[in-house]
Amino acid sequence: MSFLWEDKIRVVEPYTPGEQPQKNNVIKLNTNENPYGPSDEIKKIINNLSADDFRKYPDPTSESLVSELAAFHNVDKSRVFVGVGSDDVLAVSFLTFFNSDKPILFADITYSFYPVWADLFKVPYKVCKLDDDFRIKTEDYLTDNGGVIIANPNAPTGIYFDKSEIIKILEYNKSSIVIIDEAYIDFAEDGSSCIDLIDRYDNLLITRTFSKSRSLAGLRIGYAIGNEALIKYMNDVKYSFNSYTMNYAALTLGSAVIKDNDYFENVISKIKATRERFSQELQDRGFKVLPSSTNFVFACHEKYSAEEIFNAAKKKQIYFRFFKQSRIDNFLRITIGKDEEMDEVIRFLDSYIK
Ligand code: PMP
Repeated sequence: MSFLWEDKIRVVEPYTPGEQPQKNNVIKLNTNENPYGPSDEIKKIINNLSADDFRKYPDPTSESLVSELAAFHNVDKSRVFVGVGSDDVLAVSFLTFFNSDKPILFADITYSFYPVWADLFKVPYKVCKLDDDFRIKTEDYLTDNGGVIIANPNAPTGIYFDKSEIIKILEYNKSSIVIIDEAYIDFAEDGSSCIDLIDRYDNLLITRTFSKSRSLAGLRIGYAIGNEALIKYMNDVKYSFNSYTMNYAALTLGSAVIKDNDYFENVISKIKATRERFSQELQDRGFKVLPSSTNFVFACHEKYSAEEIFNAAKKKQIYFRFFKQSRIDNFLRITIGKDEEMDEVIRFLDSYIK
């Protein structure tokens, strides 16, 4: 220890976000952003933002955005919580709902922020090993616990976990909060979301983001939907921490984006079509590709190491994500970009993999 005060402070092992290279002309497929920008309609609203409105504090209740989201999901406004990206929403939910001596449960391979929040808030946790095909074993979650969090579809695997299995987990865990992180659900099949289960389960919280399917990672908007008692407890924590979380631009654009549904559906279908084509191209070149319900694929090559391909691609200004973590350290996570970007990736692979 180098300072006398270090044993009195909070020392944590932080989450490592994906690299954000600050140069142009890169093919950036490392943080699951949407390659298609927001619609022309939204661009017009961006250009017309009022400078004077930045002078004032924003609405602490985020009424306009909450109302649009409630209408979109056909739920009451009291069932919607908004935050600065789903990272903020998830952090507030960990702080609010995971406060027991019993361990919370999550997968060994999932969003790597979960153990970081658990450590930060001193929440005990137990990791449940995915099976050899990287699938969740339902029975692991049918045990006494302090809460459950499942990313569905999972990241970085991209695999969707069947809703009927989530129902079994919800039925067993009526005295714990079960959070389903649906950051990527818009890229899965229609009807695969668990939002419609919130009427049946008062212990279910769904989190969502504008960063992937809604093309607004830079604006930082996330939200949660759940029983009104859950949302009230989250707001109590939020108002004990930072009241003005959503800035004026986020509130204005977020509300407009929710109404922009045709554009949203169109972008999603383009990304899904590119994902299917690109997955096949990878398989044709000796990659094993996990079945993806997201806007990325998780793939490993039979001969070349992931780290080797990752480094070679980076030299050509192509950015993938690589996790030096046991069980997945031979996999690359590749975001689905535009068709022409994926063609460039294929050309790179063809020059590299002989
Ligand atoms: N959940 C999962 C599973 C994710 O992969 C991400 C993106 N890193 C998030 C939540 C957070 O996304 P955001 O804060 O941009 O909403």
